[in-house]
Amino acid sequence: MIPISFEFYPPKTDEQRAQLERTAKKLKTHSPEYVSVTFGAGGSTLSHTPEAIQNLSTAHGYSAAPHITCMGGSRQEIRGLLKLYRAMGAKRLVTLRGDLPSGMVSPGDLRYANELVEFIRAETGDHFHIEVAAYPEMHPQARDAHADMKHFIAKVRAGADGAITQYFYNADAYFRFVDDVRAAGIDIPIVPGIMPISNFSQIRRFSEMCGAEIPRWVAQRMLAYADDAESIRTFGAEVVAQLCQRLIDGGAPSLHFYTLNLAKPTQSVIERLR
Ligand code: FAD
Repeated sequence: MIPISFEFYPPKTDEQRAQLERTAKKLKTHSPEYVSVTFGAGGSTLSHTPEAIQNLSTAHGYSAAPHITCMGGSRQEIRGLLKLYRAMGAKRLVTLRGDLPSGMVSPGDLRYANELVEFIRAETGDHFHIEVAAYPEMHPQARDAHADMKHFIAKVRAGADGAITQYFYNADAYFRFVDDVRAAGIDIPIVPGIMPISNFSQIRRFSEMCGAEIPRWVAQRMLAYADDAESIRTFGAEVVAQLCQRLIDGGAPSLHFYTLNLAKPTQSVIERLR
């Protein structure tokens, strides 16, 4: 099995904290290389990401990587976070532009992820291993696929060490993206982001927002299961495990699972892999 990593979101309530505790404990048995914790743009989870990072590293013994975004934030705020994460012993950052929360008007001091990567390198040198986001099916706001690729390359040249993709269900989109990146002379690892499917209507909603295509044959089967949650979970795990197996066989360096703080959907996929 190739290395894996897990993504969590920072809990805000006691109930969510208890859920992450259970999930973190269960997923530890899969020995991930690291876990990461998302960050709300514009400071909406400002105080929760560091707390979750601290807990996952000290109480659970994970190597924990905070996500950091620049949308809606100032250089001074980002500098403060970098200082905090260094003091907490973090060595890896997942570095993103983020999205402006509805109602917020000021985009912040840095406009795009490449500017944030540059800023982090200028402030902290080589201290952090920097991951950036990649979009095999194109970022939904990009002018076109070529412009998106150009912007991805700029982000890597600004100092990224690796990339994690938006989730996708078409392996060919990933393989073609990697080929195009390699043809541009970029050799950093590009890790597929994997979204297990356990709640189809939720995945459909997410996919509309982030531009991930759900293949028609998968959607039609899921819709035919209607309220049969058990069949949806089983079929979803089989489809995503097949995708992962193709990615592994095709040379993916690692897999990054979007867990949504649930253990079972991710475990059901991992258990089906060779
Ligand atoms: P960028 O790389 O800056 O690109 C954003 C858009 O701008 C693209 O369309 C790009 O083509 C375009 N662009 C880039 N540079 C330029 C330029 N110079 N001129 C014109 N256009 C340009 N969001 C969160 O809020 N918190 C998280 O924790 C989080 N974690 C994520 C983790 C992963 C692995 C992924 C894939 C996404 C995550 N996101 C998160 C979502 C992400 O913030 C959004 O997809 C966001 O819209 C884009 O972020 P980016 O870093 O890819 O932006």
